[in-house]
Amino acid sequence: MTTAFPLSPQPNLASKTASQTLIKVDLVKGELAPPYRSYNHWLQEQFGGRVAKISVDPGFTCPNMDGTKGVGGCTFCDETGSSSRVPIKTESITEQILKTLPKMQDRFNTHRFIAYFQPRTNTYAPVAKLKAVYDEALAAHPDIMGLAISTRPDCVDEEKLALIASYQQPGRLVSIEYGLQSIHNRSLAAVNRCETVEDFETAYALTQQYGIDHCIHVILGLPGESWEDMMATANQLAAWRVAGVKIHLLVAMNKTMLAKDFEAGRWAPMERNTYIHTVCDFIERLHPECVIHRVAGNGHPLHVLAPRWMTEKFDVMSDIDAEFSRRGTRQGSHCNTFFTK
Ligand code: SF4
Repeated sequence: MTTAFPLSPQPNLASKTASQTLIKVDLVKGELAPPYRSYNHWLQEQFGGRVAKISVDPGFTCPNMDGTKGVGGCTFCDETGSSSRVPIKTESITEQILKTLPKMQDRFNTHRFIAYFQPRTNTYAPVAKLKAVYDEALAAHPDIMGLAISTRPDCVDEEKLALIASYQQPGRLVSIEYGLQSIHNRSLAAVNRCETVEDFETAYALTQQYGIDHCIHVILGLPGESWEDMMATANQLAAWRVAGVKIHLLVAMNKTMLAKDFEAGRWAPMERNTYIHTVCDFIERLHPECVIHRVAGNGHPLHVLAPRWMTEKFDVMSDIDAEFSRRGTRQGSHCNTFFTK
């Protein structure tokens, strides 16, 4: 069984940087600032109100499922390629959006939506097909004001990124989400990722070249990763100056290879308290301007096998805030590159 993760060293309050004390209070509103730059907060800053994502599925597969790069997929991924375990959609993009949008308008009291191409690999198709589905999403309803496209770094090239960049215009948010997961190739191999950190570096360089907003997915608690390994990933994300990060815990969903490992005692998830400490350590090392898209919550509670505590997403988020408050730190407090750029 994978060993437990050591708790991080306790913060040395005497070494607090100026950023820690300066950013704690929002001087305009006179309110305590949140300990990290959350995606919702950032969207409100950019668009002056709530923006919600509508998940859409163009029905593409994944090169790590169809045999092109691998078979069986990543060990934490089920056959739907989605933590929500939603079957591949057969309705058109327009039908998917029109079915969901009115409910989301009521739920979030907003008229601004991003079409979120979420499950599996949403650039894994010829450019003409990509253009057709992205065009359709933007035209589906006047309240759709952007695209978020989730994909693997090894499934983009100049032509695809040029297409995605062509959708950028004032008032519209266009972003791409890459699954990096870790900067350690041995960790990627341990979850059958079938791609490398070098694939990410190539995709990221091109993405920067085209000036596309981006969010990088990482996973804490990968098999064999130490606290130092995870912090090295955070430090590298800061050095790359990535625009956004989505932090996941490695969670075993039902009917995955990881679920089998869990049931056979070959893998154990991170303990709750260790996660709270580790995610705070991780965020402290990110650049203060990086937007944090997620810190907790993986998959639909009905399908989470282990750890079950992660289904209490808002409790976990609240404990993360409390831990930052206890430490007196925040995002960027221990960022190595904060003062160098
Ligand atoms: S790359 Fe994404 S969709 Fe493909 S197997 Fe891995 S997690 Fe699933």
